[in-house]
Amino acid sequence: MSCLEGPTHPVPDFLTGETRTFNAAEAMRPRAPGAVPAEARNGGRVRAQDVRPVGTYLPNDNVLTPNMRSPEYVQMSTAAAITLGIMNGYMHRTSCTRCLNLLLTYPEGCRANCAYCGLARHREAERNYADRNFIRVDWPAVPYDQVIDIVASGGDGGRFHRMCISMITHPRSDQDTRIVLRKWVERIRHVPVSILSNPTTMTRLDVQELKDLGAEIFTVALDAANPVIFDRTRGRGVQSPHSWDKYWEILLAAAEIFGPERFGAHLIVGMGESDHDVLSQVQRIRDLGGHSHLFAFFPEQGSLMDHLPPAPRPQWRRIQLARYLIDYRSHSLQRMRFDERGQLVDFGLPQDEVDAIIDAGVAFRTSGCPGKEAADVSACDRPYGDSPPRDIASYPFKLDRRDIRHVRGQLRRGLPK
Ligand code: SF4
Repeated sequence: MSCLEGPTHPVPDFLTGETRTFNAAEAMRPRAPGAVPAEARNGGRVRAQDVRPVGTYLPNDNVLTPNMRSPEYVQMSTAAAITLGIMNGYMHRTSCTRCLNLLLTYPEGCRANCAYCGLARHREAERNYADRNFIRVDWPAVPYDQVIDIVASGGDGGRFHRMCISMITHPRSDQDTRIVLRKWVERIRHVPVSILSNPTTMTRLDVQELKDLGAEIFTVALDAANPVIFDRTRGRGVQSPHSWDKYWEILLAAAEIFGPERFGAHLIVGMGESDHDVLSQVQRIRDLGGHSHLFAFFPEQGSLMDHLPPAPRPQWRRIQLARYLIDYRSHSLQRMRFDERGQLVDFGLPQDEVDAIIDAGVAFRTSGCPGKEAADVSACDRPYGDSPPRDIASYPFKLDRRDIRHVRGQLRRGLPK
């Protein structure tokens, strides 16, 4: 599959994203999850068919989905599969990803039901787990030993700067994450590992064990920027098990155990929060020593929010810039100004300083755990994970002068005249 593809269904209200300045909370309500037929629950179809996996499985290949389980099998992003040479494909303006994003896989799938996520439990009604789209792309399943063999023998050409294990919510994911991590660090020293954790099933001791086993960075996908939106999109609002307090408990444990520059949190912009909500989380995480990794809300096909508009570009650009100032330029939320709705109206810096940072372009690249390029450049570049190539939200490559001009125009539309 090519990352040049546009979305496979019409994205609602896409073009007005240029003129809207934020997504209002009242408008961003998920659909209620529907009923799942009894035979499809808990991976029932895949377990009943019990097809033995052979080699790489490409999603939607019109074959019965095999019974694949971690740690023997892992799924990986389309970009990682192209970089690893497991799939053919072309990515718009970039030839590879620097992060090998792995996803634990089970026929039962993720048992959570997050409203914006393509992997959510309610989707078992229509799609087997290994066939679901996630952050806009397919995730092929590959024998894990084959992945390790390719990277250990240099088959990736040194292109991976980081590996990341996404845990998902499943009763086996804690123990299988430890196995996947241990096997990696035993054979591969030059590619550090990040953990994208599942706080709901974890204790502080689990966080410590992952550190002791050799994980370098620990991240928590907080995703929602305030407790109300969290509960609405990942908690009781959609029959999902997560809680804001539990996520913060594990994030605080990670801050202590992994230490400064070695932990972070994901935040999605455009789910109905105010700018102040997002940036106060960014500041809190920075005060603890960590970094925030931003995602622009995108209506993932098949999710409970696929009828809603993506993050408006004016809102997204000002949050990207403000987050970069807090995370990498020692700026602070206290020096920024917000209006009565909590919308950012002033960065609190002289215009020539703001201009220099915009011109450098780094603030608008994909944010995530660093690679080998620079501390403020993410290895996890997730090509087109939060937008189609025709309207890039997170740039997975260095911006050129035309890109900077485009971003400037979007920023201008989101700030007071
Ligand atoms: S826990 Fe993660 S993978 Fe599972 S539904 Fe929520 S966002 Fe998706």
